[in-house]
Amino acid sequence: MTNVLNLIGGERVGDPQVARRNPADPGDVVAVTPSSDASVVDAALTAAAEAQAAWAATPAPARGAILLDAADLLRSRHSEVASDLSREEGKTFAEATGEVRRAIDVLRFFGSLGWRGSGEVLPSALPGTTVFTRREPLGVAALITPWNFPIAIPAWKLAPALVTGNAVVVKPAELTPLSVAHLTDALVEAGLPAGVLNVVHGKGSVVGDALARDERVAALSFTGSTGVGLGLHRILSDRRARVQLEMGGKNAYLILDDADPLAAAKVVAAGAFSLTGQACTATSRVYCTPGLREAFLDALAKEAESYVMGPVVSEQQLAVDVAAIETARAEGATIVSGGAAPTGQFLRPTVLTGLTHESSVVRDEVFGPVVAVLGVDSYEEGLARVNDSRYGLTAGICTRDLTIAHHFAAHAQVGVVKVNRPTTGLDLNVPFGGVKDSSSNTFREQGTAALDFYTWSKTVYLGHE
Ligand code: ADP
Repeated sequence: MTNVLNLIGGERVGDPQVARRNPADPGDVVAVTPSSDASVVDAALTAAAEAQAAWAATPAPARGAILLDAADLLRSRHSEVASDLSREEGKTFAEATGEVRRAIDVLRFFGSLGWRGSGEVLPSALPGTTVFTRREPLGVAALITPWNFPIAIPAWKLAPALVTGNAVVVKPAELTPLSVAHLTDALVEAGLPAGVLNVVHGKGSVVGDALARDERVAALSFTGSTGVGLGLHRILSDRRARVQLEMGGKNAYLILDDADPLAAAKVVAAGAFSLTGQACTATSRVYCTPGLREAFLDALAKEAESYVMGPVVSEQQLAVDVAAIETARAEGATIVSGGAAPTGQFLRPTVLTGLTHESSVVRDEVFGPVVAVLGVDSYEEGLARVNDSRYGLTAGICTRDLTIAHHFAAHAQVGVVKVNRPTTGLDLNVPFGGVKDSSSNTFREQGTAALDFYTWSKTVYLGHE
């Protein structure tokens, strides 16, 4: 058991009260954290605001060097961190190892960008004048993160914020404090000055809300549920602060007759069942044209039977998953594989058929290992179904027809399109984000696009003659 305290102005403070237990083994208390109130948020923001100017004045390559050193420290503790991540979040050790690796690579990527130029030099219409632009840090950024990628998501928000000269306050998910502690420990040990990075543990409705409402927060990046995200959007927009939201998904896959049924089943199973279906990019509805439906369903059922998953993250989430399967059954679903019979907090990969497009499990996000397979008569009908959703994060298509693949890429109303690849799994160097109720659809995360959110553009006219 580890006490995981707040980090305020370089000091580890707070009274540990709230225990997080291993979802695979409730006897194993993984971490105990403080349940902070608004006064702790105030202290964290004061520390961040005080530290920010000196950090912004530190040369960008020196800021990046700290991220690179933190990456090396995490690398040296790789299996301990992965083991803790698996214990607190529940994903398999292999998945946890991959996630820690991702956090290391994210630190390396953004650390190296400390050497990259920013801004442009442009010609001026005025004689003897040069125009150039500078990217300025915003000041203090608040980062509110979820439990499902407890080290990778904080890393991909923290790293671009820090390398561009911002100070940050992080509010980790209540269920996964320890993974964030490993990340922040590495950054502190790598030499990050006190106050540049602060962490406040506590309830979203207390700590997250206080962060969102404070005038000193110039930007807020949030990943979590759609309801909370839309509420935060209202608060931040009212005071014209910058906001970036990654929220829910109802990610669809379209399987066409010309696809290989076995390959399609592997792509759908990976998207639906990896990370126990607890990814905002998880595949949760599949539309299949008639010629392939039977062969695809057989193959998917086999994939589901052999899929190894970690436990569902919490009793609360398990209840949501079980209720979704029960409702689907009441709406006439046939359970092809799995079902609503957990062992402890472990659920089996669940495949449902016999539902209509109006069924709640086809329309609403579940955030569990549950996928519904529906029939469509044509590519056009399938595309219309894919787009008939309030969400627009990712969508995929299995086909060998390049013309159709390009048509789908152009017309799927989502932020990320996958052709013959699972909806989950993202490269770290390319933009990520969705449309509709999935994302704020202004500033993208990841890749160099992530730097735009944490900086503003200033234009300078320099007369020299
Ligand atoms: P999930 O259902 O996946 O836990 P949430 O949106 O509830 O998604 O949580 C994502 C993050 O948002 C967590 O860090 C959580 O503490 C925080 N959060 C929850 N409610 C609020 C709120 N009202 N204001 C700000 N942050 C919140």
